Amino acid sequence: MSSLSSSKYEKALAHVRSRLPGGCPLCKGQRLTIGAVILPPYVDEDGRVVDLGGRGAAMLQVICSTCFRVELFDCAGLGI
Ligand SMILES: [Zn+2]
Repeated sequence: MSSLSSSKYEKALAHVRSRLPGGCPLCKGQRLTIGAVILPPYVDEDGRVVDLGGRGAAMLQVICSTCFRVELFDCAGLGI
């Protein structure tokens, strides 16, 4: 389930369809769905969370409904 407005959802979906025309990069499944916007933590090479301050980089999940691979797209790059 996405938390995006319908216009942002459609913009993200259009980008995903244009960039992944063959479907899922792993299984080639065609059922890719727009998931949640998440804010992954920054971690150092030992896996410790690093506080860089500021907002961080919001990422949009794109989920394959066949193999459940999750791709992440940068929301700022998507313009959403
Ligand atoms: Zn897949």
